[in-house]
Amino acid sequence: MSAHDPLLQPDPELHATARKVVTRIGADRAPAPNAIAIHDPHDGSTIGFTPDRDIDQALEAVTRADTAGRSWAATSPRYRADILRRWYDRIVDNADDIALLITLEMGKTLADARAEVAYGADFVRWYAEEITHQTGTVREAPSGGARLLTRRAPVGLAVLITPWNFPLAMATRKIAPALAAGCPAVVKPAALTPLTTLFAVQLAVEAGVPEDLVQVVTTSDASAFSAAVLSDPRVRKVSFTGSTPVGKILLRLAADNVLRTSMELGGNAPFLVFDDADLERAVEGAFVAKMRNGGQSCIAANRFLVQNGIAEAFVEGLTERLASLPTGSGLAPGVGLGPMVDHRAVHRLQGLVDDAVERGATLHTPDPAIDGPGSYFGATLLDHVPADAEVATTEIFGPIASVQRFSTQDEALAKANDTEFGLAGYVFTESLDRAFDVADNLATGILGINQGLPSNAAAPFGGIKESGLGREGSAEGLEEYQELRFYNLALRSTS
Ligand code: NAD
Repeated sequence: MSAHDPLLQPDPELHATARKVVTRIGADRAPAPNAIAIHDPHDGSTIGFTPDRDIDQALEAVTRADTAGRSWAATSPRYRADILRRWYDRIVDNADDIALLITLEMGKTLADARAEVAYGADFVRWYAEEITHQTGTVREAPSGGARLLTRRAPVGLAVLITPWNFPLAMATRKIAPALAAGCPAVVKPAALTPLTTLFAVQLAVEAGVPEDLVQVVTTSDASAFSAAVLSDPRVRKVSFTGSTPVGKILLRLAADNVLRTSMELGGNAPFLVFDDADLERAVEGAFVAKMRNGGQSCIAANRFLVQNGIAEAFVEGLTERLASLPTGSGLAPGVGLGPMVDHRAVHRLQGLVDDAVERGATLHTPDPAIDGPGSYFGATLLDHVPADAEVATTEIFGPIASVQRFSTQDEALAKANDTEFGLAGYVFTESLDRAFDVADNLATGILGINQGLPSNAAAPFGGIKESGLGREGSAEGLEEYQELRFYNLALRSTS
């Protein structure tokens, strides 16, 4: 087992261009009086600043958004669609710069950042199209004498709270349907990665979104923000993507004013490989499902459950892919794994590996520890992970592939469903009957069948059990920002 090669260093030209994007959005200098410094996970250097807003400023943002929202709600769907389409075009025109900024502040490889820009832009285009296709219903009152009509109206001011792992896509997945529906928004990005969201909203304003309609509030005190803003009666909706414990806090806060809520929470995705799977496809699917974003994804494969007959070959194939992964700055050419978002994450991941090895798991890859100022952690494969190891029960959120083996489908399903989470799952098999049998019995909101990357702007993304409430993307994601009203139209015969 060899030690890690030296870390790949950023391409100087790409790095300089990324820094220019920070200047372009005005984040290169610390604003007075309070600023949050943003760091490059590659070396810990400070790359920019955002204001650290207090409660009064957050409530001022609510006032501005609420005021701008009144005329926005009265615009036609076509008017909003045209502006959203122009926003999509602005994102596409600036795709390279956005990707560079994502990599600079979050660490993921530039290839992953580019994929995020395409995915994030897709939500804007999808909702620009979807909002022009709205329908209501007309029903007969069963006892006659009336028509019952339904219509969807904007829910009102939406508070949108996003995590650091997809700083563009998690923002557009919320802002686009909110705007399409006719709602104003107050967005709170993660303090670790606010620059991409600020850039995206700047592009929205350039595209014609009214200046005050989408307020971005950057703050280091997230709990003070949510306590103040969610108790303001002008707020009618909260949409959150992040961890399940924080989601539960927000649900409690939302209860006081009976807010509409959408919760995209944590995952613990099982990845099932059956003996009849296509090995090459399963290894490639596993690699993508595990390593996209350095494993820092809510739908990342968290528990590989592999049938005994294929397990040796699968472990060998995946180990080969992981052990040779070029690691270093996301801005380095040819890099396959960038840094983790911060040192706290690295420390947590090291603890998971140590605990698993202590309990009897086998480490197939080099020691994951990587010294230096950056928050690096090497790609890791653990085989024969005991069911009581922490890595087998917790959301890993990093590049650790944890493998357990099984003999029967029933055993695999029992293991897979033995979690409070239910966001994504994966199954690899060449049998259609087995694929559907597993699909119907696996308790997840999302399932990749012979597919390691199931997300799509046109599909309803979301979890069951403690992984969340509501859906994002697709027509269902628009309904999260609409309320259904019905009109009872009395009719009597005039003959
Ligand atoms: P987190 O819950 O720590 O933070 C998410 C956001 O909530 C950040 O903006 C943070 O500042 C804010 N926040 C924290 N405490 C808050 C409070 N009391 N009030 C208001 N806001 C608060 O999560 P994270 O570490 O940023 O992201 C990782 C988690 O997000 C993982 O559990 C992952 O599975 C989940 N996630 C889920 C999805 C999904 O679609 N289901 C997508 C991406 C990430």
